[in-house]
Parts: sequence; C-alpha cells; structure tokens
Amino acid sequence: MKNWTTKDSLDLYKIDKWGEGYFSVNSKGNLSVNPESKKSLSIDINEVIEEMKEQGVTFPVVIRFHDILRSRVKQINKTFRSVIEEAEYEGRYQGVYPIKVNQMREVVEEIVDAGKIYDYGLEAGSKPELLAVLSMNDSKKCLTILNGYKDDEYMRLALLGNKVGRKMIIVIEKFSEIEKIIRISKELNVQPLVGLRGKMSVAGCGRWAGSTGERAKFGLSVSEMIQAVEIFTKNDMIDSIKLFHFHIGSQIPEIRSFKEAVSEGGRIYAKLVQMGVPLEYFDVGGGLGVDYDGTRSNNESSTNYNFTEYVSDIVYSLKQICDLEGVTHPHIVTESGRAITAHHSCVVTNVIDKIEAANDFNTKKETGEHIFVSNMREIEAELYERHSLQESFNDAAKLKEDALNAFKLGILSLSERAKIETIFNKINLFIENETSKLEIIPEELQILTNDNSPKYLCNFSVFQSAADSWAIGQVLPVVPITRLNEEPTVNCSIADITCDSDGKIDRFIEINGQESTFPVHDLKKDEDYYLGIFLTGAYQDVMGDMHNLFGRLNEVHVFKDEEDPSGFYIEEIIKGQSCSKVLSTMQYNPKYMAYSVKKVIDREISRGKIPARMGVKLVDFYEDCLKGYTYLKN
Ligand SMILES: *Cc1c(COP(=O)(O)O)cnc(C)c1O
Repeated sequence: MKNWTTKDSLDLYKIDKWGEGYFSVNSKGNLSVNPESKKSLSIDINEVIEEMKEQGVTFPVVIRFHDILRSRVKQINKTFRSVIEEAEYEGRYQGVYPIKVNQMREVVEEIVDAGKIYDYGLEAGSKPELLAVLSMNDSKKCLTILNGYKDDEYMRLALLGNKVGRKMIIVIEKFSEIEKIIRISKELNVQPLVGLRGKMSVAGCGRWAGSTGERAKFGLSVSEMIQAVEIFTKNDMIDSIKLFHFHIGSQIPEIRSFKEAVSEGGRIYAKLVQMGVPLEYFDVGGGLGVDYDGTRSNNESSTNYNFTEYVSDIVYSLKQICDLEGVTHPHIVTESGRAITAHHSCVVTNVIDKIEAANDFNTKKETGEHIFVSNMREIEAELYERHSLQESFNDAAKLKEDALNAFKLGILSLSERAKIETIFNKINLFIENETSKLEIIPEELQILTNDNSPKYLCNFSVFQSAADSWAIGQVLPVVPITRLNEEPTVNCSIADITCDSDGKIDRFIEINGQESTFPVHDLKKDEDYYLGIFLTGAYQDVMGDMHNLFGRLNEVHVFKDEEDPSGFYIEEIIKGQSCSKVLSTMQYNPKYMAYSVKKVIDREISRGKIPARMGVKLVDFYEDCLKGYTYLKN
C-alpha cells in the first residue's frame, strides 16, 4: 500500500471540483484557502483557528474570507466584459447583488466596495432590505433593483432614492402595483424608473422550479404587460419603463433553462421596444448555480455549466435576437447572489464525540434461554459461513421484529432482548463491511449501511448553520481541516447538538459510491478534530433559525496580508449570541431570571440546606452561563 499524500485527500474530497480554485491542501496536511483563486497566496485554515483560539473565540465559528467575495465580484464583471467585447455586443453589463442571499453588513459593504469600479449595484426584495440598500450604495451610476411585493410605504422609500439621484428601478411584480407607482410618483413629483417582471412560460428545473411558469407567484403575463404599457402611456409616463426582468429560480442546474428563458425574454423585450417602450435594460435575474457536489452535472446540487458558459449563452443569444428583431442591444443586468457569496464563508466545528452502538454486551449461550436468542445466534453463525447477505439480513430483521413483539407481550426478558439486539447489530456490522466491498450495493442493504455507520457529534446546529441541508437535502462539502496527509479510515455521518433527530447531515458529496457517510480520521484522545462545512456563504449564513435557542455563531473575518508570514490577518471578531441574548428574543428577561434563581438559592441558604459560600458560587455560575455562548464549551 502506498503512503497517503495530501494529493489523495485533495482528490478524495473533490476539493478542486467544488472549490473553484479557492481551496487546497498545504504541505502540512491542512486545508488552506487561496483567496484569489490562485496558488500564489495561501492561508492555512488551521492557523486561522489557532489565532482565533488565542483571542478567546470558541467553536463553532463562521470564518469569512473577504477576499473571496471580492474575487467573485471581480470575476462576474470581468467575464461579462470580456464576452461582451468578444461578441461585439453593444450594451454594457450592469450587475446587482441581491442582498437577501446574505444581508450581513460587512458582506454587502465588501461587495459594494469591490464592485464600485464596475458600477455593480444592489437588489432588495423587502422593506427592510430596501432600507439597507438605501443606506449602503450611494453611487449614482449603479442600479438598485427593487423586487418583491410593495405597499405604499415601500414605493415612497424607493422614490426617495430617485429624489436623491439614485437609479432605483421599481420592478412591477403584479398588476395592482401599477396604480400605486403612478399615484405615488405623481404625489411626490418624481419620475420613477420602472421594470416589468415577465411571467415566463419556460418551466424552470431544479428545486426552485416554482419560481417560473404560468402559475408563478410573481410577474406579469404578456396580456398584463400590454395593458401595463397602455396605462403608463395614458398617464404620460411611458418613458419610465426602462427594464425588462425575469427570474427563473435559484441554483439552476441546467444551462438549457437559461437559454430558453433568454430566447423567450429576448423576444418579449424586442417586441415591447418595437411597440415604443423605451426599454434599456434586460435583467435575467438570479439562478447562476454553484457546483456544491463537484460533479459538474445536472444534479440538483450541481450545475452543468461554468461562469463563462453562462455569460456567453446570455450575451450571444440576446445579441442574435436583438439583431434579428432590429432593436438596440440592451444593457444586461444579472441578480446573481448564490454564485457571488457561497464560497466566501465556512462553518468550522469541533467534533465532540463519536456515537456508535456499543456491541460488547455478553451474548454467551445460557441454558433455558428463549429460542429467539438461539435463532439469532444461528443466523449469525450461518452468515459467517458465507450465507447470502441479503437472506441473512431478511431473516435477522424479521426475527428482531418478532422478538420485539415477544418482549412487549412479556415473553422475553430484558437481558434476552439485549442479547438479540446485540447479535443483530453484529450481523449488520458484518454485512455492512462485506457490502462496502461490492460494486453495487443492493438498496435494502444500503439503508443498513446508513443506519449503522458511526456518527461524529459536532458542536453546531444544522438548523442554524446549514438550513438547506435539513430543509431541502442540499449537499454541502464537508472536509476535515487537518490531518489531510493521513488516510481517513472511518466512514461516518454527522449529528449536531440540537435535541432534534433531524439535526444531522447525512447527505454528502458522493465519495467511493457513498453519499450518506463520508470518510474522516479516527479521533485521538488529546487532539481536537475540526470539520469544515463549506460553501455556506449564500443563504445558509442568514437563514438559520433559533431551534433549541442556539443562535448566531461567533465569526471571524479574515483578510489576506501578503506582508505577514501567515498571509492573513483577522480584521474583526463578531461574538455569537449569548444565552441571555437569545432568551431575550423569546421575551425572557435575563436580569429577572438571575434574580429569581438567586432568590431560591438564598432561601435554601437561610434554611441551612446550602452553605452560604457555595450558594454565592452557584449564583455566579448561573449568571456566567447566561452571559456565555449557547454552544458546547468543549
Ligand atoms: C432570490 C432571487 C435572486 C437571487 O438568486 P440566486 O440564485 O441566489 O442568484 C435574484 N433575483 C430574484 C428576484 C430573487 O428572488
């Protein structure tokens, strides 16, 4: 057997496949980040962790690499610019970042700053998001696109932006918004900039197929669009309609969907222009996917195209349609969020423990034991003599079920039940071991493998940090941070520390034909072991909920520093939520809570049940816990 190298880990975890050049393994066997997608500068994630620990930051933690954000913004803008030039396309690219994907102020600020030279703007989909973008991007050249359902107040806020010279484009999502926008802009005496969202007939694919099609929640049908044009014309406001918009869903796995949307949308655009609507912008919405599972396929967690192919498809298709229809090439707008932010952040958790069934219960034969116990023992013996795996499994499963019924009827003793279950587990382990050598694992036995493999108990909450993994079966890459120069010998899945049985990750990038578990290293007694969950910068970062009141994580913001020997510095540490903070959001009053506990302890002290010195310590301890982090301390 050859020695395990870092290259083996790189291949095993498909790091080059999903990492887009941002991640690699360094010579120490640690996972590292190349913040500009090139190998010249590399940051050792373990060094970031060491420094963070020195500063008293505990796990779990979100690590943000701001330079990756900047790199993504640069990449989408540069790609559009170069394809536009190559295609001799006459419009410009004017992208916006939809802040719903990650509204963290630091994230939005970084994107705005990196996008300044490209006139890269922002998109908002709700009133609070509109308030945020109004305060954020003060450029008069960038676009601010406003989607989502709007009330009068939303319209007024948007037009406030136009009043101060910003390019706020209000996208009409439903017919009744037309009356609002006309009435309020007249009232405020400001000319609005308006977008029309088309309800596309192209059926989207992937998980967000419902974002499009005739029954979609948003957008105007063709007949509504024609009526909208008539209403704006009648009100002498046709000059306001500047943008045509569609959005066919998020994480679109198939490039074909974009092709179809652009060809339908392009025609609608051209026909509207021919009708005299002075449109200037063609907004293809979001949907640019991320290859989470590294397969470059039309899997739901993947994409069968890359950045350049996406951009080329849009630019060339739109050019062709406009040329055929004889209309000027519009400026192209995208609202990519996922593809901009996914790579920049990861969640690092420490593994607390390994959970596996204990199989050392004594199952020796005893006289007078129930026949079910002997039967289970026979199945085991036959199995070892090369009996069919499937048949043994069926027999054992049936017998276990019968035994459980017998137990419920009072026929089996507690220790007989324990023996049967222990032998059953041994049988399963054997079968699992044997099947792992097979090319194709029968489906029934596959389930067995999933149930039986050990779980690493990790200090985090799936509901807070990887919501899509729980909600929609989204695959996220999980990789050990250290020991990548050692062969991983354990196959496991992940359990979180919530008390919810759904609090687990058991869908991984497919490795060696397995996707319900992934390979990790065995735990060493005196050594911490860290797992990183990657590509969490889009949606996961901000969608987390308060299940079990775990709350937001500690965060460290990392920047590259070519002068520093480590190649980085930690620019900011944001403390995660304390217990008292999360309790406050649920209407508890931590001061009062501490007071009530103190009162009870004082009473016990005065009754002589607790020594005074110890009582004071208990009060302090309760108060310290209130102030502390919600996650496990070690
Ligand atoms: C969610 C959303 C986006 C962002 O989509 P991504 O797939 O994350 O790029 C863009 N536009 C609209 C209208 C959206 O609702």
